[in-house]
Amino acid sequence: MTASTTVPRISATVGAGGTNTAADVRVVQDLLNRAARAELAVDGDCGPATCGAIRSYQSGFLKAPDGRVDPDGLTLRRLAADAGERSEAPRSDPATASGPADGARLTQFARQGPGHYAYADSERQYGTDAMLQLLTGTAAALHRAGLEMGVGDISFVQGGLMPPHKTHQGGRHVDLRPLRTDHARGPVSIGDPVYSRDGTRALVESLLSHSAVRRVLFNDTEIAGVRSYPGHHNHLHVEVGQ
Ligand SMILES: [Zn+2]
Repeated sequence: MTASTTVPRISATVGAGGTNTAADVRVVQDLLNRAARAELAVDGDCGPATCGAIRSYQSGFLKAPDGRVDPDGLTLRRLAADAGERSEAPRSDPATASGPADGARLTQFARQGPGHYAYADSERQYGTDAMLQLLTGTAAALHRAGLEMGVGDISFVQGGLMPPHKTHQGGRHVDLRPLRTDHARGPVSIGDPVYSRDGTRALVESLLSHSAVRRVLFNDTEIAGVRSYPGHHNHLHVEVGQ
C-alpha cells in the first residue's frame, strides 16, 4: 500500500559527533517528528533532545544505536519510509495486520478524563481490557494526587505493526509521558528542568500496584521498579500480561 518513498537529501552527518549543518538537522528533525513522533522543535539545532530522538529511533532496529544519521545511510532510509507511511491512512488491512492475541477485542481508551490526556492520534489508542483497566485505575490514582498522565501510542484497533515500534501490536503496550513539575501537557525528558521525578515516581508506583503490569521501561533508575532501556528517556513503555 505504500508508494515508493523519496529519501530526503542531507549533505553531511547529523547527530552525535556529526557535521550538523542547520539545514540537515531540520530535515532530520522533521523526519523524526513524522516517523517517530519525536515532538522536536524543527530549529536546526542538534541538541540532546534531537540526538536522543535519533538514538531512540535507532533502538527499534539497531543493536548498537550510534545516534547518527548519515547521508544515504540506513537510518535516513528508515526514517523516510516511516515518515511516508505515516502520511497515509492508518493500516487497517486485515490480511496483513497481525491481530491481538487469542482473538481478544481491542477497545479505545478515552481521549481524556480525570487524571489523563492523550498525546497520540485516536486510531493509535486501542488496548485490551486489562490495559484499559490499568490506565483507568492509574489515571484515577493520579487524579486523587492532583496529577495527570499523558497517554501515547497503544495499538491500532485490529492490532498489527505500528511503526516506529516493534511492539504495540496487540493492545498490551502503552507509552506514557513522564510527569512535569509545571503540570503542562507537553513532552519532557529525564534531563529537562521541568522533569518531575516525584510525579513520575507516583505514576510508576501506581502502575506497579496493578498485577497485570509485566514491566515498565524507563531510564530514570532512581525510580524503583523501572528497567532502563535505550531510548526511554522521554517516555515510559508499559507492558501488561494480557
Ligand atoms: Zn512503547
